[in-house]
Amino acid sequence: MNPMNQPIVLTCDGFPFVFNPSACDTCGGYCCNGESGNIWVTRREIVALAEAMGMDVPSFVDRYLKKVGYRTSIGERCEGDNYACLLFDRKKGGCSVYGARPAQCRSFPFWDYFKERPDEAEAECPGVIRLKNPGDTDEKGERLRQRDGEGDDMKFPGDFPCTAHLPI
Ligand code: SF4
Repeated sequence: MNPMNQPIVLTCDGFPFVFNPSACDTCGGYCCNGESGNIWVTRREIVALAEAMGMDVPSFVDRYLKKVGYRTSIGERCEGDNYACLLFDRKKGGCSVYGARPAQCRSFPFWDYFKERPDEAEAECPGVIRLKNPGDTDEKGERLRQRDGEGDDMKFPGDFPCTAHLPI
């Protein structure tokens, strides 16, 4: 929230939607649950995640990670037909390591997969706000930049560019 108590939205050039991160407060973790999948982590992220969990790296790796080919993913907990990330805190309804979550989680929902499938992004995440026209992303971002200066540039790991704007 900004001083005017208005939600900040994130935009990403080329995406036909914007994202309101304040929706995370109430959604209950749709993006951390659902179908089985992988949450890729780098070595640096593993160290940060272990630290956030108050664990040494070998114990963290042993307990929470799995090898998938040559890559490493956070493991999942199977609950009926739902798969939950092992770091999802069901009591809290959110990520137990939010400040140290990996780039894959930080960049959600601005994944290439959703660029061409905004309907799926919208169905999965209540923070996704579809733009009426495919060209709106740049126009809206430009309009917001003019109103609010350059906004707060948020650089995600892996050079994922995203810009915070006030408000849509
Ligand atoms: S690391 Fe955190 S944000 Fe990422 S899927 Fe797991 S619980 Fe969700």
